[in-house]
Amino acid sequence: MPTDNSVYSYSATLMGSPILLKLFSHNAPLASRVFGLIKHYEDLFTVNRAQSQVMEINHAAGQQPVAVSAAVYQLIKCAKAASVLPGSAFNLAIGPLVKRWRIGFKGDSVPPADEISALLDITRADEVILDDAAQRVFLARQGMEIDLGAIAKGYIADRVRDLLRQEGVSEGLINLGGNVQTLGTPLGHWRIGLKKPFSDADALVGAMDVTHKSVVTSGTYERYFEQDGQRYHHILDPRTGYPLNNELDSVTLISTDSLDGDIWTTLLFGAGVEQGCEMLKGRADIEAIFVTKAREVVLSSQRQYRFTLLDDSYRIID
Ligand code: FAD
Ligand code: MG
Ligand code: MG
Repeated sequence: MPTDNSVYSYSATLMGSPILLKLFSHNAPLASRVFGLIKHYEDLFTVNRAQSQVMEINHAAGQQPVAVSAAVYQLIKCAKAASVLPGSAFNLAIGPLVKRWRIGFKGDSVPPADEISALLDITRADEVILDDAAQRVFLARQGMEIDLGAIAKGYIADRVRDLLRQEGVSEGLINLGGNVQTLGTPLGHWRIGLKKPFSDADALVGAMDVTHKSVVTSGTYERYFEQDGQRYHHILDPRTGYPLNNELDSVTLISTDSLDGDIWTTLLFGAGVEQGCEMLKGRADIEAIFVTKAREVVLSSQRQYRFTLLDDSYRIID
């Protein structure tokens, strides 16, 4: 236990994201192990470089299965399961569309409609073929590409939590640029800010008080570009090939595992408020906060956290 409540912060830039680790004792060697672990997973999962285990699978699309490490296999299996749910907005085979749109990267632009429909043709989660016994992944069609951008940070946040626990740390926080995972705190709870869409970095709609929970937010305001007065953000609808367009600015998930949070923000983004709340009825362990373009904050439930509104131009609906 710490002797006082001083918070020690360690930061790095990995996965193109600002990474922040908070501990209650000064422990630079542990911080560097945490950043080393994140880098290890980035090297396995990234599709932003020519080489990684996921890129090996992508390079072999339409040719042959590729044997991968347990972590890569497990995450792909989990991403496929979320992708093949009926009506799912999550699709791990979204890679060709993500690469073509380049949203958040240099050279982003709206692709011609015929290119989008050709790329939709190879965005097929059911053609990601898994072989459990050999731990091999095969993309059945040439040109197919896996992209784990919507799920990998969640998985990695949970592994950081596990490492901290294993090292006897009972109090801490890791923020992987939108994916927050927490261990207890001597302060009683962690207060996690909910960003105000399309405003200054510090502006908040509200805050969630949590203990031993993950808080994940996906928003349309983090990575986007504008063309001809239209805004295009980075969460694509695998049914149309265009950015998801509905009443939402952001979805925040409170759950024990950040992996669930990362998957469900995408699922719920696609479902919208009404259907999303319906989907959550079967999952007492997962709670959502929807922020709408009409400045409503819809709380699916409030069992594992407490929400405080900090901007009175928004109103809470629960
Ligand atoms: P989420 O909403 O959780 O996910 C959105 C991301 O998922 C999109 O950016 C896209 O990659 C993918 N996606 C879009 N639509 C769908 C869909 N319908 N179903 C499934 N997936 C979808 N960024 C950089 O700028 N430079 C880097 O070098 C870089 N390297 C990275 C390496 C790794 C291993 C990871 C995990 C991310 C990296 N990123 C990098 C960030 C990445 O490009 C995404 O922007 C980021 O993962 C989005 O996370 P999010 O939580 O904001 O959004
Ligand atoms: Mg995410
Ligand atoms: Mg996600």
